[in-house]
Order: sequence, then structure tokens, then C-alpha cells
Amino acid sequence: MRVVPGGIYGHQSPALLTRGHFPHFLESAHGCRIRDVDGNEYIDFMCAYGPMVVGYGNAEVESAAAEQRARCDTGNLPSPVFVELAERFVSLTPGSAWATFGKNGSDVCTWAIAIARKATGRDIVVKVDGAYHGVHDWCNAIRHGFLESDRAAIRSFPWNDLDALSRLFADAPSAIAAVIITPFRHDVFADLEMAAPGFLEGVREITERYGATMIVDDVRAGFRLHIGGSTQLWGVTPDLLAYSKALANGYPLSALVGCERLRQAAGEVFVTGSFFTQSVPLRAALATLDVLEKTDAIARIDRAGRRFTDGLCAQAALANLEVTVSGPPAIPFMTFVGDTKFRMSRAFAGACADHGVFLHPTHNWFVSAAHSDADIDAALAATEPAFHAVAKR
Ligand code: PMP
Repeated sequence: MRVVPGGIYGHQSPALLTRGHFPHFLESAHGCRIRDVDGNEYIDFMCAYGPMVVGYGNAEVESAAAEQRARCDTGNLPSPVFVELAERFVSLTPGSAWATFGKNGSDVCTWAIAIARKATGRDIVVKVDGAYHGVHDWCNAIRHGFLESDRAAIRSFPWNDLDALSRLFADAPSAIAAVIITPFRHDVFADLEMAAPGFLEGVREITERYGATMIVDDVRAGFRLHIGGSTQLWGVTPDLLAYSKALANGYPLSALVGCERLRQAAGEVFVTGSFFTQSVPLRAALATLDVLEKTDAIARIDRAGRRFTDGLCAQAALANLEVTVSGPPAIPFMTFVGDTKFRMSRAFAGACADHGVFLHPTHNWFVSAAHSDADIDAALAATEPAFHAVAKR
């Protein structure tokens, strides 16, 4: 607080995790385990809030990154990996023709709406109520320092409510540039919610009908559900796909992948950043995609997530506690029924930390390909006493 105003900012603030032996600073991390500065080890179910998709210090990713670092990282010109990664995206992503790179999820979400506005000549952007798309002026949930006019052209509708979306379009049929949507609903302080049958398909159909752009913000879910973009699970191909987090297994990188129709607008909208062409993260992304593509990593993440959440449900039942597990197994979350103020969740997460498992009381969790069956079983050995601690309160 003395040298950082307000303390560590954002979701990684240790101040949010106040029960139990939650560590405040990390010393090291390997595979699915993290070690704090006091020497305590935890099996990690946050994966750095998503980025660590194949595990901390993955050998293949690290050796590719080291090899690139020895050549060049930040330079006057990009290195060929910039084009190589763009080509890789085009070959991996149905309906795509190009890719561009930034650093954060916020960069590419804002970039996407600028491209949609340029391409359509329209102003309005529609999002889902409460959906998080980063911290830029048009979507920052905390309004200090921003103008109301920053979001004058933003409209929103409830998740899964196609009628409400249709009404927005009916009211302004030729003014909506884009709908931006995540593959499933993952607001903090809430159970996660998957798309109702036909919802994502409906968003695709309505945007197409009115000549608007469908942007999928896959920043949080990307590469844990499907290598070609998470909405492929529902057979839905967006016009623009925004990635970050898991894209380079912890190296700072984001990507915007788009369709042919938006190529010209994407080339005209001006975006840049001092570090956007850095080669080490681009090379790390290629290596991460190699691991995801050449192994059964995505299927293993799903299996590990199921093993963990099935185990949690069984333990909760034995402890006479009613829980709700939501979200896809790779990005799961658990809440206690009726625990509206998250008191039981905080007690549970704190007790898990006491027993060497790091998970979050109010934010969804993440599973990685480095979580073996043995790691999940070790984690479940720690969550069992945590449930009993909650039941005894
Ligand atoms: N969109 C979604 C769905 C996210 O989960 C996040 C990050 N939590 C962002 C956008 C913003 O990404 P970043 O923090 O990298 O700017």
C-alpha cells in the first residue's frame, strides 16, 4: 500500500483471499503446483487465472521460448514467427482468414469492436448484462475516471435471452455494429451458466440477418474447450474471435482472429503497442498450440476437471452440504446452495489453502493438462477435511 496505491490491483490481489493460509506472494511454480514465499506448496486450481493451460514451466514451451529469446525478442522488426502464428491461426480456426496480435484480452476486445464499427459504419455494440470484457472505457465495470459518454453506444441484454436481443435489433435495425459474447456466462460471484440450446446459434443467426458482426470473446475459455475456438463446440463460427490468457501458456500475448469480410477494416483500424511484436510470446504460443494439437491435452483437461468436480460433489454429499458445480469441467466452479454472501465458499477456500489446495471462493477455477490423476486425488484428499470444516461452522 505504501508504494502501490490501493495495494495490488485487480483479480490477482491477495487481499481478496483472506481466510486460511492463503499465500500473498509466490516464489515458484511448476506443473500444477505453486510455492509461496514461506515455502508452502499448493496444488493450483487457478492456473494464473487461466494462462497456464499446459502447466507452469512446460518443457516444450520453455525450450521454444528460450531458443527464441537467444535470437531476438523485442526488436525493430517482427520476426518470422509473427506470420507463422497468424498462419497457424488461420489453419486452426474455421471461417478465419487473418490474425493480429496484442498483449491483453482488453486490447483485442476493444480492437474487435473498432473493426466491427469501421466495417459496418455503425456505432452500437451489444454485450450481455454483467459480462466482463476487460477494463477499457467502453466496458470497465467501475466507472471512476471514465465518462458516461464512453459507453453511450453500448447496449446489453440478459444471457440466454434471444427475444431481448431480437428486440434490440428490431429497435435499431441498421445501427448495431456488433454483438460481443463469451462462449458461456462466467461472471464473478455467480454460478457459471452454459448457453441454452440454440442460444449461440441464435446470436449467429440474428447478427447475420441484420448485417452485424458476431464477436466471440474467448479470452477466458480459449484453448480449454476447443482448439478452433470454444463456440465450435456448438457449431457456431463467429466473425471475430478474441483470445488471450491460455494462448501462450503464461507469456503475454493476445490474438484477434477474423474472417475475410473484415480484412480491410482490420487493416485500416490503427492499433499498435511497443511490445505487440515481441517474438518470445509468439514462439511460446506456437509451442503451446503444438502441445495442444499433438497431444490429448484438451481431453485430459476435461477429464481432470470431471474427476475433481465429481470428487467434490461426492465429498459434499457425505458432509451433508448442498453444492452446485457449474461451468465446463475444464473451467469449473462450485458454490454452496443458499450461500448468497459466499461465506461458506470463503471458509471452504480458506480450509483448502490450509491443506495445500489453491482455489478461489468467488471466481471460476481453471484446470490444466499438468493436473494428473494423482494430483487430482491429492487435491481431493485436501478438500475432504475442508468440507468437514465448513459443515462444522
Ligand atoms: N474478456 C474476458 C472474458 C476475460 O476473462 C478477461 C480477463 N479476465 C478479459 C476479457 C480481459 O483480459 P485482460 O485482463 O488480459 O485484459
